Amino acid sequence: MGAVKLVLLGAPGAGKGTLAKMIQSEYRVPHISTGDMLREAVKEGTQLGKEASQYMNEGKLVPDDIVIGILRGNMKDCEKGFILDGFPRTKNQAEALQTILDEGGVSPDAVINFEAPPEVLIQRLSGRRQCLECGAIYHIKNMPPRKSGICDVCGGELYQRDDDRREVVEVRLKAYEEETAELIDYYRSRKLLESVDAGKDPEATFARVKHAIDG
Ligand code: AMP
Repeated sequence: MGAVKLVLLGAPGAGKGTLAKMIQSEYRVPHISTGDMLREAVKEGTQLGKEASQYMNEGKLVPDDIVIGILRGNMKDCEKGFILDGFPRTKNQAEALQTILDEGGVSPDAVINFEAPPEVLIQRLSGRRQCLECGAIYHIKNMPPRKSGICDVCGGELYQRDDDRREVVEVRLKAYEEETAELIDYYRSRKLLESVDAGKDPEATFARVKHAIDG
């Protein structure tokens, strides 16, 4: 089998980031997260970060031209495999992705749609913590670090994302429903969609994902 090429779909809190990291370490292909890239740009205070931060803090989607530009710059070696996490989020982005992949002469193996009930999404987002240094993801109840507030992997400090606050979470879930959920049908009609129950623990979800990849 060639390098794994996956697109991960799902609402905020469905576990795309956590699963992407698990898939990356098993299949050794790059994890491409537009959210991580945007947060990095905000942290560094670049022009891009300044433009994006207001949208992100409010829970809104960053405009398509900005995110498509970022993605294009990171898909130069797409034939070597990828795990796309958080892109595409609109139909426009899905079409841009198609163009980028066509140019590289590749197509995705599958689009994995992580499904979890709304109450699970909200519980996960409200307890999520992330490492400032290496980006590892924890949950204060479901997946606590060994030492409170400290990353098991690198010893970095854990923080709560600004957009994981309750009022912002509501806007993000609405943006998902209004702009991203239609991509499920888009990929289903292209026979790429694999839906996976992501409402339980990450190991169970990972087993389903491996099955979808390896058959
Ligand atoms: P995430 O880490 O994927 O939850 O993304 C965090 C935030 O970054 C989102 O709420 C958006 O504001 C922005 N963002 C990330 N990826 C995209 C995208 N593909 N399109 C638009 N906005 C995005």
